[in-house]
Amino acid sequence: MACGLRIISLLLLSISIDALPTYHLNQSCPYQSQCDPSINWQHIRRLESYVRRDVDPCVDFYAYACGNWRRIHGEGGTATTISEAQINQRFEDLFLRLLQDPLAQEHGYPMQQKLLTHYQSCTALTSSNLRRYLQLLPPLPALNASHWMELVSILGRYGYHDHFVQIEVRHHNISQHMIFIQPHNHNQNLDLTREIYDALPQHGIGFTQLKEMFSVLESHLNRLAKPNITDDSFHNLTLEQIRRRVPELDWLGALKRQLNRSSVNADHSFQVDELSAIRQVILYLNRQDRRLLNLYSLARFLSHLLQLPHNPLESLSSALVSSKSLSIACIRHMRRTLYLPMIYAYERVYYAQQRPSDERVIHSVFTELKDQLVQTLDQNHFNLNRGLVKALQTKVLGMRLNVGNVPRNVTEDFFWATDRNWKVGHDFHENHLNSLLYYYSLTAELEGNPDATEKAIWYSFNNHSPDLTDNIDATPYFYCLGNIIIIPYSYAQLPFYHSELWPAMLYGDLANTLGHEMLHAFDTDLVDYDVQGNMRDYSEQLQQQPLYVEAVKCLNDSSVVLNERTSDVSGSRLAFRTYMKDTQSWQSNGRYYFLQFSHFFCGDEGDRYHDMGSTRLNYALSQMPEFAEYFHCARGTPMNSAKQCHFW
Ligand SMILES: [Zn+2]
Repeated sequence: MACGLRIISLLLLSISIDALPTYHLNQSCPYQSQCDPSINWQHIRRLESYVRRDVDPCVDFYAYACGNWRRIHGEGGTATTISEAQINQRFEDLFLRLLQDPLAQEHGYPMQQKLLTHYQSCTALTSSNLRRYLQLLPPLPALNASHWMELVSILGRYGYHDHFVQIEVRHHNISQHMIFIQPHNHNQNLDLTREIYDALPQHGIGFTQLKEMFSVLESHLNRLAKPNITDDSFHNLTLEQIRRRVPELDWLGALKRQLNRSSVNADHSFQVDELSAIRQVILYLNRQDRRLLNLYSLARFLSHLLQLPHNPLESLSSALVSSKSLSIACIRHMRRTLYLPMIYAYERVYYAQQRPSDERVIHSVFTELKDQLVQTLDQNHFNLNRGLVKALQTKVLGMRLNVGNVPRNVTEDFFWATDRNWKVGHDFHENHLNSLLYYYSLTAELEGNPDATEKAIWYSFNNHSPDLTDNIDATPYFYCLGNIIIIPYSYAQLPFYHSELWPAMLYGDLANTLGHEMLHAFDTDLVDYDVQGNMRDYSEQLQQQPLYVEAVKCLNDSSVVLNERTSDVSGSRLAFRTYMKDTQSWQSNGRYYFLQFSHFFCGDEGDRYHDMGSTRLNYALSQMPEFAEYFHCARGTPMNSAKQCHFW
């Protein structure tokens, strides 16, 4: 990357401003008192440095706009991965500085001391000690004496809940967590490694034999847990109803232990899936050898811990690690497992001074997009009934935005309270378990908390769980349960966005990105969630409108994931309509609008949820007549598709 940066600065120097088509560039500053021209010119040179002028933009706009990307940045990177690496680097800079300077003022911030302790224990790792994880669990009676559910509910405190009977506290809608109960996860089998086996308490069973016993156990459980009917919805049941239908388990004891509560009311309600399968699993387990079941639970727990995203123990075992790469691995691990403390540190140290101007600009563009989308819905191209139109408009108007994904309207006391609830200990394994305990006990408390004011804080952002997978929070995303768009810190910086960018570049990415995320609220999967994050029957109603069905069909011919395509196409049209209010300005600013839009996709190889960046960019633009008009692309050229699909 360092090498790439050197090349880019050479390229920047080699393109003079005079050579760029910028004569009538709109240099106004929509929501700021001033926009520093040097930031803008530098960014324009950067965008131009990626352009390959020997490529015809009407044939392949990606190859035109991103043609030099690889040469400059090398293989495998996108602007997003570069941006994420910068965030990680800033955390490392902070921690190293604080370790060297005991008098730095940041030491006095809430949670900062504990973050440093956790970081130090992580970077001091030389080998993994899985047995240590197990020694740190609350003591149980002998393995062959305790009921299997006792251990399962203890492991549940650490957020692990995948086998036997799953009890999990989950986000339910915009203002509520609920407890979900499901049978044994029949999609996941334990791969008992030697390392896990060696960490288990003394039991006198050989490795191969134990492995075989686990696999027999699993095959029985998988058979019992597999649903007979294709009913994937959860049913709302009270504790009393569950106890009456499945009296063979001490539900109250298990819940009290896992949630750390002194009582759970009989009328407390739960989301339950497949209660009859759960009962079959329980009846079977109650007849099995307790020691075997408890060994299995411990092995599953260790396997789960190792598989948590960015557990640094995994990077220790894979190869010889340098202290630098371990340090970054520890930061990535901490950004997962200590989400709130880490986000607070970043906010306080790096982002707070930038926030007021970002809030003003990003929220203003968001409001413009909302107004535009409400108007579009009003035109009712799909001929929907007025009730549905109204509900969808309400969803747009109620949609929220959180820059940085931080709790809103809180004082420092809030973070000191978090500090008190989270303990750090002596070594990495202890700190890792403590971080899990802190997150999941907080979630459990939230489920039982009746205080609406306090709860509103926790629902003003998405408190990422330690098992959140990586592809989610590096770029902005729409979170359907909270009807909220999350803008991560890695997006709130150049090259994506800067509060002082001129309109073409400000809207070129920000409006397109927000537009894309907003349209996820209307994609074929997430349209069903209403303004409060509750499931409705909106897609059933939409399916009855032939114009809607036709529009989906039109877009569905070649994409790996339909709901990304609908968001790309409709999101970029929404962004463009919002930006284009001044047609005059558009004619002389289109180039940087489209180049800025493209930049996000450069180098992107796609994943299981997304087509390649080149496919996404070219498809979205080929569906936009204004793009063809601006670049004079004849009808039927690749970038001016003869088949134009209409969606939202
Ligand atoms: Zn998307």
